[in-house]
Amino acid sequence: MDVFSSISSRLEPLNLPGFEGRLFIKRDDLIHPIVCGNKWRKLKYLIRAAQEQGKNHLVTFGGAYSNHLLATACAGAALGLKTTCFLRADEDIDNHYLFAARLYGMNLIPTDRGAYRDKESLFYTHFGQDVNAFYVAEGGESVDAELGIAELIDELDWEPDLIVHASATATTASGLAAGIVRKGWKTKVLSVAVLKNAEEQAQKLQTGGWSNVVSVNADYDFGGYAKTTFELMEFIRTTVAQTGIMFDPVYSGKALFALNSLKPEGKVVFVHTGGTMGIFSEAFMKIKS
Ligand SMILES: *Cc1c(COP(=O)(O)O)cnc(C)c1O
Repeated sequence: MDVFSSISSRLEPLNLPGFEGRLFIKRDDLIHPIVCGNKWRKLKYLIRAAQEQGKNHLVTFGGAYSNHLLATACAGAALGLKTTCFLRADEDIDNHYLFAARLYGMNLIPTDRGAYRDKESLFYTHFGQDVNAFYVAEGGESVDAELGIAELIDELDWEPDLIVHASATATTASGLAAGIVRKGWKTKVLSVAVLKNAEEQAQKLQTGGWSNVVSVNADYDFGGYAKTTFELMEFIRTTVAQTGIMFDPVYSGKALFALNSLKPEGKVVFVHTGGTMGIFSEAFMKIKS
């Protein structure tokens, strides 16, 4: 047993007005306090691959509010692997994510936005000589990640009409689509873009051959990545108080807001992709509601 040992996250009814018993929530946020949500699923086979190759040093990339960064730090510590993360930062930055990542022993390398763009060259410049270094793409994006996500579908014991989730790189979307197609289901996926890249995400899904399963919605980014509004915070406040489930304003809060506004028909599963740490950002706590 280790942090990636198989578990099946809970499926619970979610009582939002207007759904009358046909909305459910897949509680991937409960998988682990830190290595949770889609980051747990994405890292599972990636880290297994690293271990199988005998690598003991995970090298990855992320911003200061990256759930991937933190999940990698924690998983690495749990499995006895060294972790390094190139941190996208133009200035000296510190927050609760980076504090926790350092506690897990992660080596953070602040990297200006220019240099950050060329990740392969960062990896080879710093760790080209380290035979133990294992490259983990930003956000965990990879075929292994999609494989891990696809398992979420296997955990469902009935066929939903629609699955809704927060989407940033379309990796989760692709994995869900792969799982659905593998099952021979007709379930559709609604991927709510949480930043201004819906076009790019749709393109990626098209290239992957998933565009007949997944549609990307561009209307709920609330101004861009990690941007929020009073209206979004008000919705989150109400929903958290009514459900006892924490939703963050960067990812799952936006996707749930979209779902609640669009009120799609049929039996719906909302995937809670994790990211609970995002709620405890000082910037968000300043938005009074
Ligand atoms: C990373 C993340 C996402 C986005 O996943 P993609 O596979 O990049 O689309 C969604 N929700 C949460 C909580 C995340 O941490």
